[in-house]
Order: sequence, then C-alpha cells, then structure tokens
Amino acid sequence: MAIWNLGSINIDMVYALPHMPQPGETLAANSFDQGLGGKGANMSVAAARAGAHACHIGAIGPEGKWCVDRLMEYGVDTRHIVQSDTATGHAIIAVDPAGENQIILYPGANRGLGAGQIGQALSAANAGDILLMQNETNMQAEAAEMGRKLGLRVAYAAAPFDAAAVQAVLPFMDLLFLNQVEAEQLQDATGRPPQDLGVDDVIVTLGAEGARHFDGRTGAVSDVAAQKVTAVDTTGAGDTFTGYVLAALDRGLPMAQAMAQASRAGALMVTRHGAADVIPDLKEVQDAKF
Ligand code: ADP
Repeated sequence: MAIWNLGSINIDMVYALPHMPQPGETLAANSFDQGLGGKGANMSVAAARAGAHACHIGAIGPEGKWCVDRLMEYGVDTRHIVQSDTATGHAIIAVDPAGENQIILYPGANRGLGAGQIGQALSAANAGDILLMQNETNMQAEAAEMGRKLGLRVAYAAAPFDAAAVQAVLPFMDLLFLNQVEAEQLQDATGRPPQDLGVDDVIVTLGAEGARHFDGRTGAVSDVAAQKVTAVDTTGAGDTFTGYVLAALDRGLPMAQAMAQASRAGALMVTRHGAADVIPDLKEVQDAKF
C-alpha cells in the first residue's frame, strides 16, 4: 500500500538573535541554520522513515531542488513534486536567547498546485491507499473529493488551523489529526465534539500528556500515554506522530498499536533540535529506551 501526501515543502531558515528585532532595527544574527521543513515534508519523511511507501505531491521553486534531493535521501518517492517559477515555501525563524521565536512564513510554490498534477499522481493510487493532507497547500478539498472517489482513505492534519478549511474537507475525511488547541478550535467552530464530526477516526495529540483516539463509529475514546523525556524542541513532533500513525495503519496495524509506536517516535523527536532532518527511523523508535 502507499501514502500519498499532498503537502508543503519548506526551507526552514533559523537565525539565533541577541534579542527580537524592533521595528526599523537592523540586527546581526549570532548563527544561521538551514534545514528541510514544512508540515507536509515532515510527514512524508516520518511515513517513509517508518517504513511506508510515501509519495509526496507538492511543488518547489527554482532554488528548492536540494529539498527534493533530501526527501529522496530519506526514502520519500518524489516523482510527483513539480518545479514552479514561484519561490520555494520558506520559514524565516528568529530565536532569541530565551528560546522564544518569531516566524515569517512564505507559502510560495506550496500554494500553486493544480488539479491536473494531483489527478495525475492519484491515477497511480490503489483503493485502500491513504491520501494525506495538511493546511499548508491549496487544493485540499478538491484532492479529498478525488481521493474519496478512488476509494482512498482520506487523512487530514488540521494545521495550521483554519475552521473553514477543515470544514471543506470534512465530508470526505476518514481520519483527522488535531493537537489540543486545534481540537478546541474545531469544537468551537462546529459545536460538535470530535466523535460527532462524522469522521471514523479522530486523533488528538496532547503533547507530554500523550494522545487520544475518538472512534466516530462507536463513540469510544481511548488514550495512549506519552513517554517521559526531557523536551528540548517540539518542532515536528506532531508531524512525526501523524506520519508514524499512518505508516503503521498502512501496514495493517490496529489503531492502538499505531498510536503507541507514533508516541515513541514523537517522544524521540522532542529530544532533538530540527524538523525533517532529525526524524527517527523505525528501528530507532523500536530500540529507544525511555
Ligand atoms: P503538535 O506539535 O502538533 O502540537 P503535540 O505537542 O501534541 O503536537 O505532540 C505530538 C505527540 O508527540 C504527542 O502526542 C506525544 O506523543 C509526543 N510528544 C510531544 N511532546 C512531548 C513531550 N514533552 N514528552 C513526550 N512526548 C511528547
């Protein structure tokens, strides 16, 4: 089986600053670090590192070819990533000595995907494959509808949160991933708790508190505990969790086992600085001692 991920690819540019810049101020950074990021890329890498056939559907600009090379290096199928004339999506991340950050996000090529590209990619999909999306590209609702028609299992990670964007995909959704804040925002927007959204599986991640599964078919709620670790950087933990859950489901594991494995992967992730470049592989996740 395979996971088809309509997702963003971002260049994360991280600047360590002596303090946050004031309006009009020019400020030299103490250090600079560049890495691969974007929720979409992170989830593709996580699914691939977890052993799934992860096929990324996305776009880069002329200066983003190294991102595709990096995705390939991590085992992602990059055949359906196109190059556009728009700049590659990027995040300019300023971090002050206290660890506070400010982020400028430029979606760029991520918002320029076309129905033709998505249709062409999904024409190679098989019924029962998973179609995954987040909210950092365009075309999610159109892709979800296509996926449903083809018999794919449609998964959506509602981040960055936008109530209208979630609601547009909701009628076609089989699995929904939310963090705690997003779950509250969605409940405020719809007036419905997670198990009443008409979605078969809703997974809410709760940071150091673990994660919760809401079964939309039965109304059952079950929890998975988090591992005890010292967190140094939570970037990419949720994305890694999502990629790992889907890779395990794609292998035929039951939800409880999929979430337990994802929770170990998420815990490892928060002990590391960085995003896609530091996502653990399945062996590391299985061998980790917590
Ligand atoms: P997001 O990054 O999307 O806000 P969460 O913070 O809920 O997502 O983290 C996703 C998952 O990563 C959690 O469900 C948990 O399994 C793991 N995780 C996150 N923070 C910690 C932590 N401090 N200790 C252990 N596991 C964590």
